[in-house]
Amino acid sequence: MAGMNMRKAPAIVILGAGSLATAQRIQQLYPQATLHGLRGRVEAVDSLYESFGETLRGLYQQDTPIIALCAAGIVIRTLASLLSEKDVEPPVLAVAEDGSAVVPLLGGLGGVNLMAREIGEALGVAPAITTSGELRFGTCLLNPPEGYTLADLEQGKRFVSDLLAGQSVRIEGDAPWLAQAQLPADAHAQRTIHVGYQARPDHRDELLIHSRSVLVAVSATQSDLTTEVRAALAEANIAEQALACLLASEQDMAAPALHQAARVLDVPLRFTAPADSLQSMVAHVVPEAQTLAVSNVVIAATPAPIEVAKVGRVRGRLAVIGLGPGAAELMVPAVKAELARAEDVLGYETYVRMAGPFRADQVLHCTDNREEMQRARHAFELAASGRSVVVVSSGDPGVFAMAAAVLEALHESSDPAWHRVDLEILPGVSASLATAAQAGAPLGHDFCVMSLSDNLKPWSIIEKRLDLAAQADLVLAFYNPISKSRPTQLGVALDIVRRHRQGQTPVVLGRDIGRPGQTLRVVTLAELQPEMVDMRTMVLIGSSLTCTFARDGGGQWVYTPRWYGEKP
Ligand code: SAH
Repeated sequence: MAGMNMRKAPAIVILGAGSLATAQRIQQLYPQATLHGLRGRVEAVDSLYESFGETLRGLYQQDTPIIALCAAGIVIRTLASLLSEKDVEPPVLAVAEDGSAVVPLLGGLGGVNLMAREIGEALGVAPAITTSGELRFGTCLLNPPEGYTLADLEQGKRFVSDLLAGQSVRIEGDAPWLAQAQLPADAHAQRTIHVGYQARPDHRDELLIHSRSVLVAVSATQSDLTTEVRAALAEANIAEQALACLLASEQDMAAPALHQAARVLDVPLRFTAPADSLQSMVAHVVPEAQTLAVSNVVIAATPAPIEVAKVGRVRGRLAVIGLGPGAAELMVPAVKAELARAEDVLGYETYVRMAGPFRADQVLHCTDNREEMQRARHAFELAASGRSVVVVSSGDPGVFAMAAAVLEALHESSDPAWHRVDLEILPGVSASLATAAQAGAPLGHDFCVMSLSDNLKPWSIIEKRLDLAAQADLVLAFYNPISKSRPTQLGVALDIVRRHRQGQTPVVLGRDIGRPGQTLRVVTLAELQPEMVDMRTMVLIGSSLTCTFARDGGGQWVYTPRWYGEKP
């Protein structure tokens, strides 16, 4: 999201209970912030971590602003190895445990001094600001507020040194945020701060700041949209950095060409109802905009920066995500990122809770596990209205879970708004894979995955498939092996398997794998009793070649060799 000036919610990281009170005061200032505490030392935080170093580096790499309540030295040493990798870094601050000192460390261009001032004010202390330009002028000239962007950082640095060396300056254009700054102003100064959307040649005497006040309306049928937009801006002498967003008809919402252009130009894409011309589309969403150029695209500008969130509407998103078995380390990073951007979260209550913690602005829709189609339709309704929606499943969403229900709901729908939603399925570690990994490699050769639940399929087909899969000597992975309403079926299923497998066949039982209180048992098919299994258990039954051997430290390794027949 570079260039969009969106500040992510900060992370407040504490080491012990001694800093909890200060952390909570900072959290009142940034209600979106998540509070991270060291496991075993603190409770009542949003997230518990095991390793301070890994947590801090992870946050830094994800561009999350960091407020660490500990010695500045600890923060510096922890992040040191990463510092040279980044040209734009998130704000990083060290705050004394008792709130008596606020030290901005990194992220001068990401607004760290602004945060230091805000936190200093909330804690009643003066922030330790050391940036000379900032101290002298009361603002960082190189970090204009949202809606404005610096044309050239290097040129900006030279300009600020000139001012620090005693040059005076005047402002051309509208720079409301500089009204209270203590600049060495002089109406006849040679140096100027120029604010506007026009492209201008580099000039040593000028600090050029672009206002993001330009909008370009496009249609998806244009062949090379990015080139077209760039050419039109150049023709009209408008800086590309002044572009606030692209506007298109909502009929074209899913057109890849539009999304490609928005990605390359690094601007948001907004949509409005189709109209007879691009110009009337612009007039409809930004009535105050003045048309600057009309070609295959229409360029329009407003006097002040455009508030993109108010221009038409955004394309809604629906992500069907898999949480993995439970442990946070087994959740894929794409899923974590999706949860962070979600506005609405739908799912069975247990899984929604597992996906948390959530921020106060995120809406949770918890439903019963059986209302899958209804949940899928609700998700599309929300996403079609422009929301960013997440549907959660445990494990992988495509394995006996929500992804198929969501696609079925879409398949059945003739609502174009549903089909335009940005739909993505994000995988997770399925229970069979998580269980297998803990046992060794029981799924190391061909295997068959089945749900033993006959809620959505006839029992006769389950019997038939069990019989054929067992006959084919596939390793068997059973999901939903048993439940209170189906107490006897597992016994019947095992009878079928035993017709084809020997009594010493290894069986792995994984219960609550990746969750608190997880258990892993290895038994033989002869020993296996339905009472050893419940609905939170994964059952893996070996093939004729699956074998076990003692594991140093206790228990057994289970694996199925990669070859079949005679050992090669
Ligand atoms: N989508 C899920 C499966 C949902 S079906 C996945 O990919 O894992 C629910 C069944 O999965 C349960 O009855 C149980 O058999 C199995 N299961 C889910 N999570 C589990 C876990 N953490 N440990 C063991 N089995 C689990």
